This record gives sequence, structure tokens and C-alpha cells, in this order.
Amino acid sequence: MSYALTADQIQIQDLIRRVARERVAPRADEIDRTAEYPHDMFALLKELGLFTLPFPERYGGTGNLLSACIAIEELGRVCYNTAYLLLVQWLPFGALLAGGTDAQQQRWLPGLAAGELRGAFSTTEAQSGSDVSGIRTRAIPVEGGYRLNGTKIWCTNSDLADFVLVAAREGSEAKSPISLFIVEKGMKGFEVGKKEDKMGARGVPSCPLFFDDVFIPRENRLDGGFKAVMESFNGSRPLIAARAVGLAQGAIDHAVDFIQNRTAFGQSVSEFQGVRWMVADMVQQTEAARQMLYRAASLVDAGAPAAQLAPMAAMTKCFATDVAMKVATDAVQLFGAAGVSAEYPINRYFRDAKVLQIIEGTNQIQRNIIANSVLGRAARA
Ligand SMILES: Cc1cc2nc3c(=O)[nH]c(=O)nc-3n(C[C@H](O)[C@H](O)[C@H](O)COP(=O)(O)OP(=O)(O)OC[C@H]3O[C@@H](n4cnc5c(N)ncnc54)[C@H](O)[C@@H]3O)c2cc1C
Repeated sequence: MSYALTADQIQIQDLIRRVARERVAPRADEIDRTAEYPHDMFALLKELGLFTLPFPERYGGTGNLLSACIAIEELGRVCYNTAYLLLVQWLPFGALLAGGTDAQQQRWLPGLAAGELRGAFSTTEAQSGSDVSGIRTRAIPVEGGYRLNGTKIWCTNSDLADFVLVAAREGSEAKSPISLFIVEKGMKGFEVGKKEDKMGARGVPSCPLFFDDVFIPRENRLDGGFKAVMESFNGSRPLIAARAVGLAQGAIDHAVDFIQNRTAFGQSVSEFQGVRWMVADMVQQTEAARQMLYRAASLVDAGAPAAQLAPMAAMTKCFATDVAMKVATDAVQLFGAAGVSAEYPINRYFRDAKVLQIIEGTNQIQRNIIANSVLGRAARA
């Protein structure tokens, strides 16, 4: 399979690379330092019409994931948080596309596509992160809909979102099936708590959610089912890898610039063989992750079956984010003491890289998926 970029994709890459350098990079440190939501960056993405990039042409998108990965890579190279703004918008968009009814899609997707609405997606609870079967939030069927009770944590974008897709057990049995419900801002009994003070990914808030007997009308339940929506994330997981590849490339950019301008023992630091080999390893690992990413995205775009996509998406997410962590760590090392100073941007890359190894399924969970695809499911995985 070929995954050379098309002329359109190269055009997207050139455009986003220029915008990233000229308009996003100058804001990146401030967004991280203040941990304030970057409304100006959201407006920029809206102006560029990027909110539908991976989605079908009828929503104004390109209909292919590889284009979206390229855009995320370029933004992630300079600013993790701005790249995140696209991803948090794409998650509920993709979920509604995969499991929403026609009426739900008509109601919410045009607004998300235009950047007029914001969404969020919530599964995680205090006792249920990797293990979704631990979900305790419940939707009990009542006349005309459901009553929702429970507490979620770590829901990104939720304090700005017009709606949140919430995973809850439907019914009162311990093992009642998990369904997804659209919880709208302002619904009685629904509250968003104080945002987390995070080490990385600081510009986009993650908050707890509280549901106190919230009435959810029947038409707000996604008919496609939780499993279908979760499977659709096989397609979107490469986007996390794209952010990782961009982050690794950005860390290399900064490190190369620094060592070429720093002298020690009477010569440029970039002349030491030990340093040059470090850079060579950083570049080859990043390129390997990039090639894996482009292949995974191309498989999604070619409509590969879920059985092939699941391990591929897991490998790509796991490999690329591990590379990002390693490359960012080495980049900090190449900066010496300046690497741990808040005056230089490189420590931001290091902190953001750690988040990537945890979100959208930790890298241990990705390894379980990969191992299961080879060895079969372990008795307790
Ligand atoms: C910045 C950020 C944003 C987030 N945004 C969202 C969001 O928008 N919506 C949402 O629902 N959630 C969100 N999350 C939550 C995230 O999805 C979870 O943190 C993640 O799934 C891990 O769950 P946990 O933190 O409960 O860790 P746990 O599941 O408790 O895991 C703890 C450790 O045990 C390991 N472990 C667990 N099970 C296994 C196993 N079977 N085999 C091997 N190792 C295992 C894990 O890998 C990890 O190292 C966000 C988290 C962060 C940090």
C-alpha cells in the first residue's frame, strides 16, 4: 500500500506548517504558562475551516484521516494545546457519526463542523479508567427518557462544551449494558466541577462532571451503542500518534537550534560525536513513528477491517507516544540546565509527552491490544 502524500495533502501540510509557525508558535508558551483556554487559537482553527478535516465531504471535510494527521502533526510540532483543540472537537464528532441517530447528527454535527458548538466525551470515573467495565454512572429508564446519576472525572473541554457524550450503565443491574447519552449544557442537575491543575496539556481544561438525577430525553441516547463508538476510535487513535510525531519533531527542532548555538570545550556542542548520535537516534525514531502513522491512517482511509485496524492503531499510538517521550527527554538533556528552566520551551514538550502516553488508552493497554491480536485474549487482560 502506498502512503505517499497527494498534492492536496502536501498543500494542507504547507498551509498548516506556515500558519503554525507564524500564528500558533508565538502563543504556545503563554498558553502553557497561564493554562488559559486559547480562544484565539480556536477562532483561528475555525477561520481555517479545520474542524471537519477527517470527516466526509458533506460536512466540508476531506474524508480522509491522513490529511487530519498531517494537520495535527504540524500544529503539534509547535503547540500541543492548539492541536488538542482539534482533537477534542473531533472525538464527539466521530462518535456521533459512528453511533448517533440521523436526528442527532443533524442537530449537532453542522454546529461542531462550523466551530459554533463545542463537544466533549466522558467515560472515565474515579474507579474506572482503563477498565471501562467499572463504570458506575447510571441512566435509569423513566417516562420519556432516563434519569442520570453519577460522577465522572477528567472530562476534557467539558467546562466549555455545549454537550457531553456520557457513558453510563443503562438500567439498574450491576452489569447493565453501557450506553452513550448526550448531556446538554444547562440540563437541570448537571454540573461541571473545577478544572484539574495539570502538568501537561494545560491549555485545554479537564474537569469532573456531576449528574444529580438529570433528566435525559429518550432522543438523547445514541442508538449505535457504546461498542460501535469505541470501535470508531480505532480510526481516530492515529490522531494521538500524529500529535506525538509532531511533538517529537518540535523537540528536535528546538534541540538542534540550541546545540548549534551553544559552545563547550571550545567548540559547538553540535560537533561532539556523542551529541550527534543522540540527534541521529531522535531523528530516526521520529521518522519511524511518522511512517507507521501514515500507514495506519492510510489503512483507515482504505477502509481496512476492524480486526486489522485495532492492533495497528494501538501500535501506532503506543510507538509514537513512547518515541515522543524518549525524544523529548533527550532534547531536555541536550539543553543541559536550560532544559529544566521555564525560560525555554523544551520542558513543555517533555511534560506534554507524558500525557500522550496516558490518554486514549494508556500504553500498557495498547500493548495488551497488540499482544491479544497475536496471542489471543489473556484470561485477565
Ligand atoms: C490530560 C488528560 C485528559 C483526559 N481527558 C479525558 C476525557 O476527555 N474523557 C475521558 O473519559 N477521560 C479522559 N482522561 C482520562 C484517561 O482516559 C484515563 O486517565 C486513562 O484511560 C487511564 O485511566 P486511569 O487514569 O484511571 O488509570 P488506571 O486505569 O487506574 O491505570 C493505572 C495504571 O495501571 C495500568 N493498567 C491498568 N490496567 C492495566 C492492564 N490491564 N494491564 C496493564 N496495565 C494496566 C495503567 O496503564 C496505568 O499505568 C484524560 C486524562 C488526562 C491525563
